[in-house]
Amino acid sequence: MSTLSAVEVTLVRGDITRQTVDAVVNAANSSLLGGGGVDGAIHRRGGPEILAECRKLRASHYGGGLATGRAVATTAGRLDARWVVHTVGPVWSAAEDRSALLESCYRTSLRVAAELGARTVAFPAISTGVYGWPMDDGARIAVRTVLAEAAAPVEEVRFVLFDAAAYDEFERALAAARA
Ligand code: ADP
Repeated sequence: MSTLSAVEVTLVRGDITRQTVDAVVNAANSSLLGGGGVDGAIHRRGGPEILAECRKLRASHYGGGLATGRAVATTAGRLDARWVVHTVGPVWSAAEDRSALLESCYRTSLRVAAELGARTVAFPAISTGVYGWPMDDGARIAVRTVLAEAAAPVEEVRFVLFDAAAYDEFERALAAARA
C-alpha cells in the first residue's frame, strides 16, 4: 500500500484551536514565546501550560530559539489534543526561493508528530498570514509535501483553513495533486 492511499488528507474551514486531533501544528515564530495569528490563538485557548513548556525549551536545547523549517513538540494544554508541534515558517521573499524551508516545516512537523505516535494531525496554512506567503503557492507546497511524507502512525492530516479563500486554494491544490 502506498503512502498516498494510506493517509487521508482532509480540508476543514475553521479555527485550528477547535479541532479534536492528536497533534495541532502551530505556525510559531523562532522565539517560541508566542505571537499573533495561529500562535496567539493556540496560546490563548491552550492556556499557560504551553508557554511554560516553550520557556523550558528556550532555557534548554533551544536557547537561540527554533530555526526556520524545524519543529518541536510541547503539551497541548487545554486544547482538545495531546501535543502542539511548533514549527517556524519562512517569511515570503520575492527575491529568494524559500520553498524548501516551507516544505521542511510540513515534513519535520509530520515526523515529530509521528514519533510521538500521533494518528491525526491538524495543520494551518503555514507562512500564509503575517509571513506573507501567497496562498496558492503555500497550498501547493503544503499538499504536495504532506502527500509525499505522511506515513504511519499518521492516518489523517487535516488542513484547517481560516477563510473561504484559503479553503478554495487548498481544494484546488489537492485536486491538482491527485489528478
Ligand atoms: P505565519 O506567521 O506563519 O504567516 P499566521 O498565524 O500569521 O502564520 O497565519 C497562518 C495562516 O493561518 C493564515 O492563513 C491565517 O489566516 C490562518 N489563521 C489565523 N488564525 C487561525 C486559526 N485560529 N485557525 C486556523 N487558521 C488560522
